[in-house]
Amino acid sequence: MSKRTDDAPDTPGQLTTSAGNPISDNQNSLSAGPRGPLLMQDYQLVEKLAHQNRERIPERPVHAKGWGAHGTLTITGDISKYTKAKVLQPGAKTPLILRFSTVAGELGAADAERDVRGFAIKFYTEEGNWDLVGNNTPVFFVRDPYKFPDFIHTQKRHPKTNLRSPTAMWDFWSLSPESLHQVTILMSDRGLPTGVRHVNGYGSHTYSLVNAAGVRLWVKFHFKTQQGHRHWTNTEAAEVVGRTRESTQEDLFGAIEQGDFPKWKMQVQIMTDAQAEAWSERTGWNPFDLTKVWPHSDFPVIDIGMLELNRNPDNYFAEIEQVAFAPSNIVPGISFSPDKMLQARVFSYADAHRYRLGTHYEALPVNAPRSAVHHYHKDGAMRFFDNNTKNPDAYYEPNSFDGPKEDKRFAEPPLPLHGDADRYNHRDGNDDFTQPGNLFRLFNAEQKQRLFANIAAAMHGVPDEIRRRQVALFAKCDPAYGVGVAEALKLDPAGGERIKGTSATDNPAENATAN
Ligand code: NDP
Repeated sequence: MSKRTDDAPDTPGQLTTSAGNPISDNQNSLSAGPRGPLLMQDYQLVEKLAHQNRERIPERPVHAKGWGAHGTLTITGDISKYTKAKVLQPGAKTPLILRFSTVAGELGAADAERDVRGFAIKFYTEEGNWDLVGNNTPVFFVRDPYKFPDFIHTQKRHPKTNLRSPTAMWDFWSLSPESLHQVTILMSDRGLPTGVRHVNGYGSHTYSLVNAAGVRLWVKFHFKTQQGHRHWTNTEAAEVVGRTRESTQEDLFGAIEQGDFPKWKMQVQIMTDAQAEAWSERTGWNPFDLTKVWPHSDFPVIDIGMLELNRNPDNYFAEIEQVAFAPSNIVPGISFSPDKMLQARVFSYADAHRYRLGTHYEALPVNAPRSAVHHYHKDGAMRFFDNNTKNPDAYYEPNSFDGPKEDKRFAEPPLPLHGDADRYNHRDGNDDFTQPGNLFRLFNAEQKQRLFANIAAAMHGVPDEIRRRQVALFAKCDPAYGVGVAEALKLDPAGGERIKGTSATDNPAENATAN
């Protein structure tokens, strides 16, 4: 119910139109005679049907199916020497909303599907909203935003069959070796969690922290589940989906409703500029590459706080369907990095919301900051808020009417840049194999067998040429990885020979992308 601005007496039981006019009959339409046609002047009927037609908004092109709740971040550690952000200072308690999601499925998709889980958090800080829009994986399938729409097309329906296409997925992945790390996670046990209470969250990108002295450091954010990791096998998930398509919603909503509040330990990894350079030099890895992690042994995690979800939304549509996260929302003391994917997301998320929800989507209650908002944006869809410059004459800037002004105290330290503006082949000399190999070598024998079986199942119906190309990539991560998948796929001996040959010339993906 909208807020009333006058002193008229309220009659809560009285049904009204959206203009506040009392409704006399909500059961019988207005007709010419008991059996006669309807009258156009039955405006309540028109309004009711027109509203029904508009009850859906476009679903998100990705991350359409979601589950979420409100909660709190409590900072218990002390990283004040790294950042001046108030939300990260010792003792800070910040309200938040967290929306989990699957990536590929549509709004009505079953929950128990093998897919990456979105882990998007909006922190309502006293310095404005900070959105950390991550996943349950520390890396991603692509590292250059040019490839993001292509990648998503392979995850969505084929234009002719209107079916998901394993051929498209594996064709793209096998031609994009940078996807190996994320594909390995997706096909491992953690690719099919029993619910989102049992997943880690990762900011994934490298971000920056700025301290009170104006020094910039690089940072990765992690949220470790306190509920333990739990996953389903493909067979178990098929049984779950047969029983309920809403297993994650039931689990998350049910736990919170019963007062069993899920928690995640918040951790950071920190890298100085000098460390970034030395590490890059030693490993050949780019600290701003979204397909790479920072190994814990090189950059230990620092515990900084606890995130708890403790309140279910009252209205799913208003609070979860309309919540709009954007990595562009940062606060003083936290900022971006040269990560190319992050740079593109800074543009594209806010743009998606302007299209999907409307120009002033940030004014919706779930998106509105809890701190004051003063800007000069003017009209457009959903202009339902007051003149927030506090003065109707101050609708441009500069002005002589005491309108809001910039404040240089919030300037970030300058970011040194070097190099020629050019298109650099991001696959040139990039090691896409060691880190997925490291993950593979962490798995025990049973985990490896499930990984092989999951990959073989996901490749059902995929042409042999594509399977072989992909197996050759797995073999470059670890020979046992290639052999295991080849065996699970029952590839013929000729394929086996090619798997053993792991030189670059055997790999059409590399040949296709070499300079
Ligand atoms: P560590 O042994 O210090 O850490 C291993 C990490 O792997 C832990 O964070 C663990 O999460 C996570 N992990 C375990 N099983 C899986 C799985 N099936 N899918 C995804 N993650 C899993 O190793 P390093 O830091 O040296 O990294 C080794 C490899 O671990 C990396 O190449 C990367 O693939 C993976 N990894 C690394 C992360 C990082 O930030 N360094 C983060 C996540 C994964 P948990 O502690 O919750 O069990």
